[in-house]
Amino acid sequence: MINTDLHIHSCVSPCADREMTPEAIVARAREAGLELIAVCDHNTVRSCDAAADAARAAGIGFIPGIEVTTSEDIHCIVLLPDTAKAHAFSRWLDTLRLRMPRRPAPMTRRLPIPRDPEAEERELLYMARRISIVDLPGAVAPFGGLVWPAHADKNANSVYSVLGCWTPDLRMDAVELCADTEPEDLPEGLPRLRGSNAHRIWDIRSPGCPLPLSSPDFAGLRAYLKGGD
Ligand SMILES: [Zn+2]
Ligand SMILES: [Zn+2]
Repeated sequence: MINTDLHIHSCVSPCADREMTPEAIVARAREAGLELIAVCDHNTVRSCDAAADAARAAGIGFIPGIEVTTSEDIHCIVLLPDTAKAHAFSRWLDTLRLRMPRRPAPMTRRLPIPRDPEAEERELLYMARRISIVDLPGAVAPFGGLVWPAHADKNANSVYSVLGCWTPDLRMDAVELCADTEPEDLPEGLPRLRGSNAHRIWDIRSPGCPLPLSSPDFAGLRAYLKGGD
């Protein structure tokens, strides 16, 4: 068994702690006995190069990932074979950003708070992209990636909170669940995963999600999820 955690946020996610640097994540993952991790920030791969370097130096497996917000406001994990593919996918995802013109607030309602362009940029990262969850697997395929709904049974930003059920048109490689009791309509044979969805360093814990992988890397995970095809 390979001890994995395939859903960890870094400090570039607007909702994650500033302390979640790639180096701190890798150090904590190694300490917790994890053998394979994926860093998945909201709609960006900005931490993947530093995380890959840190994981290589620490001797643990690393897969670059991204947590996509679909047009339905559903979160999906996308993992890519390498950092080059991750950057290519992220660039493509950037073209699907919603462009909303910012109107200056009327003088009477303007608050005496200085603008924080960095905070505004981080908030934009979280927003939905113009792609449906139904179309996401087809869009990920040319990049050689794997895709599944994140925290599918959570009460927000999930398949069950938005769609209400597992619809037959969801062609996913797996599903990530939070609760011990799983939804009754989940397809049989669909691999079930657990991710910490860590936003703070101590959210990264052992045992993670032990999986019977042949190797602690993307190829090992792909072979397990796709049945070696
Ligand atoms: Zn999420
Ligand atoms: Zn997440």
